[in-house]
Amino acid sequence: MSGNWQRRWQPLLQQWVMISARSAGRPWSGAIPNREAKLTPAHDPDCYLCPRVIRANGTTNPDYAGAYAFDNDFPSLSFDAPVSDTDAEEAGHAQSLTRTAPAHGHCRVLCWSEQHDATLANISDAQMRAVVRLWQAEYTRLAQTPNIANVLIFENKGVEIGVSNLHPHGQIYATSFLTDTATSMRDAQVEFANTHNGDSLLVSLLQDAHTQEHLVVEKNTHFSVIVPFAARFAYETWIVPHRHVSNLTDMTDTELDELAGVYQRQVNRYDVLFQRSAPNITLLHNAPCSELDADKNKQCCFHLAFHPPLRDAEKLKYLAGFESGSSNIVNPVQPELAAEQLRAINVQEHSA
Ligand SMILES: [Zn+2]
Repeated sequence: MSGNWQRRWQPLLQQWVMISARSAGRPWSGAIPNREAKLTPAHDPDCYLCPRVIRANGTTNPDYAGAYAFDNDFPSLSFDAPVSDTDAEEAGHAQSLTRTAPAHGHCRVLCWSEQHDATLANISDAQMRAVVRLWQAEYTRLAQTPNIANVLIFENKGVEIGVSNLHPHGQIYATSFLTDTATSMRDAQVEFANTHNGDSLLVSLLQDAHTQEHLVVEKNTHFSVIVPFAARFAYETWIVPHRHVSNLTDMTDTELDELAGVYQRQVNRYDVLFQRSAPNITLLHNAPCSELDADKNKQCCFHLAFHPPLRDAEKLKYLAGFESGSSNIVNPVQPELAAEQLRAINVQEHSA
């Protein structure tokens, strides 16, 4: 299949993606991501995520070991958000062009390790399984919290995407509302189930013949790593469960343990591909959790998405003019080729 100058339909987000493999060979005179490995200490007294350090709000971090979570001191969302007289719920503002709504929610910080210089690629198997258990515990608790509609767990990693604190950590935004992406994904999966005898969109995509033949990076017992057919980012991959399971809460211990191993191998593949502790944006897409829409939420299937900001070891991929003006992202690497390259990496030889 030719992947050049082709638009591909992204069925979860209901949008077109442009595959333009030729743009990958374009001459580059922009910023070269810094690949020099800096000596990072195991404990940094100036890092607000390290154990025993006093945070900005005066709280002292406990002498924790392993995965550890706490409330974000600088939350983007809060249930303390003041009511505004321009809120859409207020009478007379529902159709206003300048209507507002409170940004209600909880923000959490998740440290993967007490060690400042660790990454999810190099912590032990047992530590990685503890991280996955923390994901599950945090999702379960927040999804059962009143007035929470969606729980997005994510990791921003790397100075290339503006992360200032190198301590290995992720975050959670638990929102009282459905994000735009959560809305698109749920609408798409509900519509697919309604028109395909209740089938799961994501499981169907995984089982698709073209995906199985050309886009699988790793196939395990309960999960596969695939490059999505309409990957929006160079080397974008998804970890997809083999059965339709809506969220981390509903996974078995066996599945969670395998997810830990599959996840760790995939981040190791990125480190090998990009020749450094690779920057990434990682998103855990659990089903929304609003009680009112429980039937619709059940149609959503868990998946974990990696959105690497690099197009190769030397080049960043900026979302620039065309993407900003169109919302149709241009992927410079043909997904089938990306899968082939990732599949060829023997992570066992490179794991720490
Ligand atoms: Zn630290």
